[in-house]
Order: sequence, then C-alpha cells, then structure tokens
Amino acid sequence: MNTATPTPAPTVPAKSSTVAGNYFISNYPPFSFWSENQNAEVEAALDSAPAPGAKLGLYHHIPFCRKRCHFCYFRVYTDKNAKEIQTYLDATVAELKSLAARPLYRGRKPHFVYFGGGTPSYLSAKQLQELTDQLKAILPWDAAEEIAFEGEPGTLTAAKLAAIKQVGVTRLSLGIEHFDDHVLEINGRAHRSGEVYAAYERARAENFSQINIDLIAGMVEETEALWQRNIEETIKLRPDSVTIYQMEVPYNTTIYKEMKAAGKLVAPVADWATKRRWVKEAFAALEAVGYTVGSGYTAVLNPARTKFLYRDELWSGADLIGLGVASFSHAAGVHYQNVTEIEPYLAAINAGQRPTKRAFRTNQEERMIREFILQMKLGRVVLGYFKEKFGVDLASRFAAQLGHLAAEGFLTVDATHVRLSRDGLLCVDTLLHEFFLSQHRTTKIV
Ligand code: SF4
Repeated sequence: MNTATPTPAPTVPAKSSTVAGNYFISNYPPFSFWSENQNAEVEAALDSAPAPGAKLGLYHHIPFCRKRCHFCYFRVYTDKNAKEIQTYLDATVAELKSLAARPLYRGRKPHFVYFGGGTPSYLSAKQLQELTDQLKAILPWDAAEEIAFEGEPGTLTAAKLAAIKQVGVTRLSLGIEHFDDHVLEINGRAHRSGEVYAAYERARAENFSQINIDLIAGMVEETEALWQRNIEETIKLRPDSVTIYQMEVPYNTTIYKEMKAAGKLVAPVADWATKRRWVKEAFAALEAVGYTVGSGYTAVLNPARTKFLYRDELWSGADLIGLGVASFSHAAGVHYQNVTEIEPYLAAINAGQRPTKRAFRTNQEERMIREFILQMKLGRVVLGYFKEKFGVDLASRFAAQLGHLAAEGFLTVDATHVRLSRDGLLCVDTLLHEFFLSQHRTTKIV
C-alpha cells in the first residue's frame, strides 16, 4: 500500500507547454493597439503621395473553406453558395476600384500579388478568371514579379490548376499540413493524403515557377514516427520551398473551446521544445538534400531563384492594398484591417464607404522596430540597411537586448549583421518582444 502523500496536480503549466494564445508575430505594433479611433488616419494616408520608390502589393482575401480546421482562428465561411461568393467577389472589385483612384495608389502598379484565405482555390475556375480580369483592368499586373496563390489540395482539380496557372500565378502554395490521414482527420482538415499527391503531381505538370508546401509541426496526435514520415514524404516530393509552422492554439479555435470545456490549460499538442526540435530535424534533413534555410519557417531548394516577394517586400515596409473581409493593409505608414464579418463588409462597400475596422499610424521609430523584428525572422539582419533607411545604428540602439540574446547563444552581432543561430531562429517569435517599445509589451510567450 502506498502511503506517500499524493503530489497535488500542477496548477501552472510547465514552461514549454503549449497553452492557448498566439505565438507567431506577424506585425508591429501588436494588433491590440490598433483602434477604430485611428480610422481617419487611413483616409489621410490614402490622400497622401507615395514615398519615392515605395513598392506596392495587392492582397486578395477569400474567406471560404470546405470545412473549418480545428486549429483555425480565422473567420471563415463554409456555407456560402456560388451566388453569395460572387457577391463577395464583386464587392472586392468595387473596393479596389475606389482605392486605386486615391492619390496614394493612382497610376501605381503592384510589384507582387497574393491570394490568401481561407481557401482561394475554393473559387471555381470561372470565378477566378473573371475576378482576376477585373482586378487587372483596374490595377494592371504587368509589373508584378510574383503572383502567389494558396491552394487546398482537395480543391485542386486539373481544370482548376490550369485556370490558376492561366491567370498568371507564379507561386503556388499547397496547404498540405500533414501527410497522415488520421492526423488530417482528427485536426479537421478537409483533404486527405491521396488528394495531396494528386494535386502535387498535377501542379508540377502545370509548371508553376514555384511550388511551396506548408506543414505544421505538432498537430493533434502528432508522433515522432509520423513527423519523420512527413519529412521523408516532403523530400520525395522535392518542392521548391517548404514552410513549417509550429502549431499554436489561439483562443478562437475549436481546440481551445474543447480545452476550455474540459477545464484544461495545456493544449493537447506537443510542447514548444518538441515542436522546435521537430522543425530543427526537418531543416537538417532538408539541408542534407540541398535546401537552404531562409527564415525561421522556410527552406528553399534554390535561393537564387526561389524568392518570396510578398514576405520580403512587406517586411521592408512596402505598401499593401488588402481587399476583402478581415484583410490587412499598409498605406504609407498606416496599418489597418477591414471589418472581420462578411455582412458589414458588404454593407460598407455597397454604401460607398471604407470597411475599416481598426487602424494604427506608425511613427518613424515604430516603423524601424517593425522592420527590424520582422527581418529577424529571416535569420539575418543587415545593419547598413537600417543605418541608411532610418539613420539608426541597431547595434547601439539595441545593445542591451542584443547582448543578452548573444550571451544566451541565440544570435551574434558583427560589424555588418545580426545573425541568428539555428536555435535562435527556431524560437525567433519568442525573442522579439524585448525589442518592442515599453508601451507595446504585452504578455511574454514561451
Ligand atoms: S483551410 Fe486554412 S483558413 Fe480554412 S479552415 Fe483550415 S486553417 Fe482555416
């Protein structure tokens, strides 16, 4: 008989546990500081002249999916019919028309275009053709070096892929996430592995300039063996680019709702240390067969040829016209997001109004910090770029933070660069808060 006093159940999750919340940093200052009180700043920015040499991007958001994944925190619609989708697409075209006439954008052409979601490949070939014809008539794409498009494998028929290629897509990104049917099913994905292989083969036959595949390390019921198999299958396909996210469990996901109902603080997925190790192993395996790690999330086969302008230009301060529900834009230093529900979005567009939900006008220092922390995610920051663009010597401006992270082995600083170590790169999102201005620091993440 065991007479020892039972150990009380832990009330605080272990440091590396995956708890609810966002881990990935996609912008600065954080969204929680954007406010509808600043929506008038959007109009002022749209009435300003563009900065000399400023690049322009176009983002089109398709908020429709076949099914809602259990880890998804986006506002997506799984029940819209073709007529409702067409109404939405028409509204996005009207939104672009009104924006393209504003002084900030008049006469400019996008350098890069991105169709994201949701699931852009949920559109029919006809809808896609008509939509892109209309967008191009307003803002010609002939100067665009990259047209990127997200596809869900189960929607990519041969005819759909031919249409995607025909409208000019150069970078097709396949949301594979995992190769195991049970893991796909238990995480609520709409596709299965058979559709992955079929879509990949068809996409290769269309000769896209670049095919990226997205994976997630640490989905529900991920195991060591299944993760190794993911790596092997990825290497067999040999895509131009591989993007690997570490599973996070934001608050408005099905997984979080189930955790909450069960009174659990820790998500039913691997801890952060395990997820980082899995990505580390995947990067090492990819490097062994010729890939180069180009960011904390990406490995590419041919870095000289395989670019990702949408990321690189946005992280260097490009203007971005974001069309559609919930989309994010950057207009001459003003960040803003559109309303996140389809009905108010349509109502605003039909009334001839901007569908702005919240905005934030950045100052020069915030823009410098934004570019610095986003470029840290590439694993390499060029000090001369910040000296020239912002007149800032990063090594002295951030001497304390860089010194501390260097002592921990996460990075090195020399005369020309900040360079992250592999371990630093794999947890880069956790290293960035200390570069935030004090008023923007929120809860620290693991
Ligand atoms: S396909 Fe993407 S956007 Fe759609 S529900 Fe799944 S995670 Fe969300």
